[in-house]
Amino acid sequence: MAEPVFRRLALLGIGLIGSSVARIAMQRGDVAAEVVANARTQASLDRVTALGIAHRVELDPAKAVEGADCVMLCAPVGAYAALAEAIAPHLAPGAILTDVGSTKQSVIRDVGPLVPAGVHFVPGHPLAGTEHSGPDSGFVELFTGRWTLLTPPPGTDPESVEKIAELWRRCGSMVEIMEPAHHDRVLAIVSHLPHLIAFTICGTADDLADETRQQVLQFAASGFRDFTRIAASDPEMWRDVFLNNREALLEMLARFTEDAQAMARAVRWGDAAYIEDKIGRGRKIRRSLIELKQA
Ligand code: NAP
Repeated sequence: MAEPVFRRLALLGIGLIGSSVARIAMQRGDVAAEVVANARTQASLDRVTALGIAHRVELDPAKAVEGADCVMLCAPVGAYAALAEAIAPHLAPGAILTDVGSTKQSVIRDVGPLVPAGVHFVPGHPLAGTEHSGPDSGFVELFTGRWTLLTPPPGTDPESVEKIAELWRRCGSMVEIMEPAHHDRVLAIVSHLPHLIAFTICGTADDLADETRQQVLQFAASGFRDFTRIAASDPEMWRDVFLNNREALLEMLARFTEDAQAMARAVRWGDAAYIEDKIGRGRKIRRSLIELKQA
């Protein structure tokens, strides 16, 4: 077995993402020699203990990071500033602070200024997930064949970036470096806007008259059913994503609204060619995803 990348990995947040990293680290042994888990509630830590997916659990984040050479923030991004403030004085010199948050400019804005001198900050985002949350929802294959984007601010220690990249490769992921603003725009269209649409369409269906709503549920064929899967995601996590990628999300939503209006116009005027062309483009995108093995 290769040398572990880290001696002690502290995971602050042990839900879907944190517990998947924990499971991989415990199973492989070459990601970190020791795994420490922290969560907001003792109930989640009791689950971690019962599942045996960390060597140690610690309710106090400051204690959880003591002596860790890698600290990974795995809580909703809105909680990062308070967490960073609590742990900053306790981070070991030379430690690497990283994260898995779905927004990157906000994380650099909120956490960056709190990182003590001598600690290396390497923001990251694994592009993998499900609609489930909590320590029971993680699994070792979550990151297999998926991309992880790292968005190190200029001047970040290259060796630290490489160590985080190696951690993700050992988790089964492919790694790419990206500029944070670019990350937020790309994610706004591929992830944040689709979630916004899914939450909205479920709200619209729920607002329908009782009798119609009943039938929506009863006859939900693949279209609506697929939206409900996405819409089942964790409300706190997604609230924080929307609020912390506001500009990019609003820009993509404005573009989408224009395109939806154009489609509505085509439907109203019976513009069959326009409608067919748009549907054809959807098919093409789906085919490209399958070819890229990201479907
Ligand atoms: P999750 O399953 O809901 O788990 C969240 C974890 O954070 C739990 O351990 C929770 O503790 C803890 N936590 C919640 N609020 C906190 C607070 N205010 N202070 C400290 N800890 C808190 O979430 P997740 O899906 O793993 O997401 C975690 C991070 O990964 C988020 O930043 C998200 O943007 C990012 N991400 C998510 C996905 C996805 O599809 N889910 C994909 C990529 C990246 P308790 O259980 O005790 O409440």
